[in-house]
Amino acid sequence: MLDIASLIDLLAQPRKIVITTHHKPDGDAMGSSLGLYNYLIQLGHHAKVIAPTDYPQFLEWLPGNGDVIIYTENIAGADALIADAELIFCLDFNALSRINEMGIKVGESGAYKIMIDHHLEPEDFDDYRYWNINACATAQLVYTFIVEVLGNKQLVNADVATCLYTGIMTDSASFRLPNTTSAVHRIAADLIDAGAVNWRIHELVYNNSSENRLRFLGHCLANKLEVYDEYNTALITVDKQELEEYDVITGDTEGIVNYALSISNVRLAAFIVERKDKVKLSLRSKGEFPANDICKKYFNGGGHRNAAGGMSTDSLQQVINQFKLILPKYKTLLIQ
Ligand code: 5GP
Ligand code: MN
Repeated sequence: MLDIASLIDLLAQPRKIVITTHHKPDGDAMGSSLGLYNYLIQLGHHAKVIAPTDYPQFLEWLPGNGDVIIYTENIAGADALIADAELIFCLDFNALSRINEMGIKVGESGAYKIMIDHHLEPEDFDDYRYWNINACATAQLVYTFIVEVLGNKQLVNADVATCLYTGIMTDSASFRLPNTTSAVHRIAADLIDAGAVNWRIHELVYNNSSENRLRFLGHCLANKLEVYDEYNTALITVDKQELEEYDVITGDTEGIVNYALSISNVRLAAFIVERKDKVKLSLRSKGEFPANDICKKYFNGGGHRNAAGGMSTDSLQQVINQFKLILPKYKTLLIQ
């Protein structure tokens, strides 16, 4: 275990630091990681962000992106950095399985592990934890960690601010989710004052689709959306052939589930996609409905109440059938 005084002591001189985040990183994963990276390099630390896998192109403009190592593309180099690190920051995840095979190396490393996260039920692999499930994004926690814990608001420069704003904007679904408190808006305002250009960030993240992505979205909505009014549930399912047909790349499926959730009576929306070696589920819900409960109990996953994910090694059809069979168990909560 590490107390905050010892952590502050450690950070008082340049250290070898690895920052990592969950596989298939999203806007909060990359925004919080690169936000922390852009902060740490100002203090002379030798910091590297290692992403377990690739991530959407609409995040590649983030300041510091050019220095990110993708684990699956440079395993030897990344393993050496992990083994050699004095500190490993684990951002936006709290179980080593969320960083795939990299989890073994991080677990074995003698580095101090610092978890900054907002997911439920953290695993016990860390030495210091800055964790709050009420935060709308890990990027919000990175901001308060830098400003309130480390007392370094003056080091929140335009690069740090841009990355953290991106994390908050994407994880709060553009400041829409219930955890977008007045405190979050105050932080967003601070970040804009520090140089985050809010409208430009929105443009780069949300108006950066390929034509393919939009046509694929059209296909999902026109041909693949199923609505079960009896359960206030909507489902979109996609198989491997469709992904190929539309040349779908990492990031193209992001957010499609939200269209299903936008139907007025729908309380639970699911996007189920057949990937190379597994079937991946993305669930979103409105209000009190616990989407994470379904992912945790039935699909080897978890997440937040209103946004959760899971996976299965069964066939796509089996997963779809299983999902439909689960709905009656949640009927009371779904029809409230
Ligand atoms: P997405 O649908 O975007 O993949 O995931 C939605 C939310 O659920 C994200 O906050 C993500 O961190 C979380 N999540 C997705 N997959 C898993 C999983 O397998 N385990 C856990 N614990 N959380 C997940
Ligand atoms: Mn997050």
